[in-house]
Amino acid sequence: LHADLENYEEIYSIQKEADKFLEMHEQTLAKTCKERYMEVFMDVEKLIDSTRYLDSFHSGDGISRSRLRQLVPSVGRFFTRLPLKEAFEIEDTKKSISRRRLVSPSFNDVRSILNTAQVLALTSQAEEDSRLKLITFDGDVTLYDDGKSLLQSSPLVDCLVELLAHDIYVAVVTAAGYPGESGALEYHKRLPGLIEVLRTTDQLTDKQKSNFLVMGGESNYLFRFDVAKGGLQFIEADEWYLPLMRAWDADKIVHIMNASFDHLVHLQKKFSLDDENKTTIIRKERSLGIIPTNGYKISRETLEEIVLSLSTRLHDILYGASPALPDESHHFTSVVAGNNDSDLRVCAFNGGSDVWVDIGDKSLGVEALQHYLCKDSDMPVISKSESLHIGDQFASVGANDFKARLSACTVWIASPKETEEILFHLIEF
Ligand code: IMP
Repeated sequence: LHADLENYEEIYSIQKEADKFLEMHEQTLAKTCKERYMEVFMDVEKLIDSTRYLDSFHSGDGISRSRLRQLVPSVGRFFTRLPLKEAFEIEDTKKSISRRRLVSPSFNDVRSILNTAQVLALTSQAEEDSRLKLITFDGDVTLYDDGKSLLQSSPLVDCLVELLAHDIYVAVVTAAGYPGESGALEYHKRLPGLIEVLRTTDQLTDKQKSNFLVMGGESNYLFRFDVAKGGLQFIEADEWYLPLMRAWDADKIVHIMNASFDHLVHLQKKFSLDDENKTTIIRKERSLGIIPTNGYKISRETLEEIVLSLSTRLHDILYGASPALPDESHHFTSVVAGNNDSDLRVCAFNGGSDVWVDIGDKSLGVEALQHYLCKDSDMPVISKSESLHIGDQFASVGANDFKARLSACTVWIASPKETEEILFHLIEF
């Protein structure tokens, strides 16, 4: 100790050197780690660029067998570039991802890097063909908390008004399906804050106010804000249905609804949910769902089982029965679509506390808007690269926003707060 005290000065300076060394090592490590992550994101960015290049030789929705698709066969079409390296740098500055030593980049980190890359692509001056014209939102969890509504106090109301002020079409594309004039009142209940602001604000022109729409029941009912009425106006199907939707066979729809209803009743019994204090089945013209009653909570596993079982049953109805019982047989994806363009589309999804089967899906809802809105000003159809859908349901098991990925760029959020952050970036850029 004595010797140490005598050599205190020296020891202190060695200690300082050691600290500096460690600090430098830390920085080098962080730098190496950051550089390595950046390299990885750059590589994926290049793989996406080459996929887009190869896809451009395929017409329509045809896809190439790019290197990326060989690695990840389920990869869909990319409607814009995705500047992942730049997005990583932005997210890394915010969240210090590369400074972590014990926890590697998580699913949520990657989700937010992809979201940021998508926003960058849509706001980049260089990408003339992908300027944002239409932005669509899911309702629950995206604009308001599950089962709640969009109040005037929500910061999202100002964000939506700001988007409209930039002459961007804004639409809610929700599974919640209510037809006709009475349906408009149901959406007013879900969106009271925004409807009130649209009624009263002088920040927007009448045209900009009428650029707000609601697509209900995935792709079944369209409403548009009407300034004279001071609320949403129901638009008749013949004004906006896509040709393939017009071709759907009404009898087939009834058949699907009946068969899905029978199967849902069977599942309700099978899982002992057929007690009025537990669940009830709601049947509408183009949808049916099992919902909890009296505060009962259907477990996540049961919700997923019901979705998968309904999907299998729907697949059997559309393509012919499978030999085994639906719920004991193989599972298809949660969302069922036809093979041909004119085939009827049906989706089954897990709404978080309930399960629904809807005729149509959000890819058709978004596509119908892209076609309908271009009639407004004789402009070309809004392209997929000019559309963005924001939603929370993208996991492939029982998720209904997933289908919007076929018709638009997408951003996957996990709360209304995250939606606000995305809109803040979109408006800021
Ligand atoms: P979204 O998140 O805006 O797509 O709304 C989904 C929720 O809307 C579901 O979880 C249901 O609670 C509710 N909902 C009300 N009516 C319907 C319907 O007809 N089909 C599907 N969902 C419905």
